This record gives sequence, C-alpha cells and structure tokens, in this order.
Amino acid sequence: MDGRERLRAYLEQRREMGESEFMLDGMSVVEALAAIDKLRPSKPPQTSRSTNVKAPEPAPVPAPLRGVAEGHRAQSFDARPQAAAPFGTHETAKSSSPATDDLAARFAQGIVIGSAGGTLFEQNPYRDVASLAELAKLIDACTLCRLHETAKCAVPGEGNPDADFMCVGEAPGANEDETGHPFVGQAGGLLTKILAAIDLSRDQVFITNVLKHRPPANRNPLPDEVDACSPYLVRQIQLVKPKVILALGTFAAQTLLETKTPIGKLRGAIHRYHGIPLIVTYHPAALLRNPAWKRPTWEDVKLARLVLDSSK
Ligand code: SF4
Repeated sequence: MDGRERLRAYLEQRREMGESEFMLDGMSVVEALAAIDKLRPSKPPQTSRSTNVKAPEPAPVPAPLRGVAEGHRAQSFDARPQAAAPFGTHETAKSSSPATDDLAARFAQGIVIGSAGGTLFEQNPYRDVASLAELAKLIDACTLCRLHETAKCAVPGEGNPDADFMCVGEAPGANEDETGHPFVGQAGGLLTKILAAIDLSRDQVFITNVLKHRPPANRNPLPDEVDACSPYLVRQIQLVKPKVILALGTFAAQTLLETKTPIGKLRGAIHRYHGIPLIVTYHPAALLRNPAWKRPTWEDVKLARLVLDSSK
C-alpha cells in the first residue's frame, strides 16, 4: 500500500467514525511535509547533466499512517502530556477543571432532550422490570433484531446499580462479544484509565452500550436495531438514575441527543437527557487510533467530574 492509499484508508476510517474534522494526529511538521512529498507525482527521470545527482531517499511513512495499515497499537492514556498538570488524581482534575460559574454557560449551549418529568420512562415497554439483573436476563434472551443471530452473547452492561456516573458507548466489539462484559480489551483498559483520572473506579460507575449485541464485523448499527434496542438503555438509565451520563463516541452521543451534529460540535456543552446532564467525548477506541484526541477527552471528563461534584 503506497502513501496515497494509506492516507485514503486513514481518512475513510475517520469518516466512518462520523468525523468531519481532521487533525494531524501528533504528526510533526517534518512528518506532515514528508507525507505530502510522498503524495506528489514523481518527476520524470532526468538525463544528461543530472545523471550524477543522487535521487532522494523515499520519505518515511509517518507513524500515524503506519498505524492504520499495521493495526492499532496499545496506548496508555497519558495524554496530560501536553498539559503540564499531572494526570491521575482527582485533586488535579478539580484544580484545573472549568470554573463552576462556567457551568451555566455550558448548560445553555447544550441540547435538551425531554424533561425530567416527561413521559419517556412511563412509555417504556420494560417499565415494570424491577432490576438491572432482571433486565439483563431479558436482553440475554432477546431476539428483537437480527444481531442476536450473529453475536456470540449479549453484553447488557455492568457496574454499580446505584451509580451516579454512567458511561454509554456504541455497541459491543469482538472482545466484549467473547466475554459478555462491556469495554474490555484495549479500549476498555483505556476507559478504566480515563475514569481513574477523575477518581472513579469501574465498580463505582455503570457502563453499557446503546446496542447490546455486537453488529457483524463492527459495522455501524442500523436504525431498526437502534429502535429495537434503545428501550433497554432507557430502562437502565431509569433504574440506575445517574447524576451524569458520559456519552462515548459519535454514535452514542448522536443517538441519545437525537441529532446528526458532529461530535466535535457536541463536546464542551452540557446537554440534558430527560433531566440528566450529559457530556459528550470521544470513544476510547477512537483515542487508540488518534492520540491527539486524548487532550480534548481529558477536558471532557474534567467537565463531567465537575458536573458530578456540583450535583452533590
Ligand atoms: S441488539 Fe438489542 S434489540 Fe437486538 S437482539 Fe440484541 S438486545 Fe435485542
């Protein structure tokens, strides 16, 4: 695969993730220029007096582009790097979080879906399911959409049933499909680090996805699958009663907020999902592909932590 094909594959991947914005992921100026040089049409071979001139060495393919072709590399969530502040203690998070008086402005920027006293929960077909465990049994046996036919098992979600903080991703991947647990593997490990950075353990939060069975080959969920599965998520939210929801990635954010707005424009605001503050950030799997998003993710989770603290 030449440089042009690598760049195309990289951009296709970003587009499939719903991203319309493009940043040079951690590439230095020299690396970026080298990539551009590699895409230029090569000059016709020179003759006569130039025969003694040594041809330039091919420019190396920058690391971010190599990563696309060679698979994802494990990354530690040590994104503070660019920020001088250390990353990993709650005190640090609080000390550099947005000012509390900034919260009103952030709420004003957010999308409001439903109201705290709305009818969403009352209309839910699972409104009489009394516990998360009981709901998980229904999910395990669910055949409402085609995904149960290809998935190995259901991944209902797990965590503290009384959590104040709830994480919602898109759908199970291969590792989750093997184990039945949400957010395992590299992306799951990164989520654990992200939560630890704001002084939350996985035992303290509830983690789930919009879809409870894995789409084949991790393809995008289809609208009828989302329609069939969403009531489970709604009931989970109703049972857990979180004080903050963290939507991980484009799909979860756009589904919960009923919008097609790109994630880059949803971040930074505090939205409301039936009265519950909702913060949007990048999916951990996206961070593995794009380390440049770790810094904005850190800003997002600091905001989520501040909203959580302010709710107590
Ligand atoms: S993805 Fe959701 S709606 Fe589809 S079969 Fe699984 S639990 Fe049922």
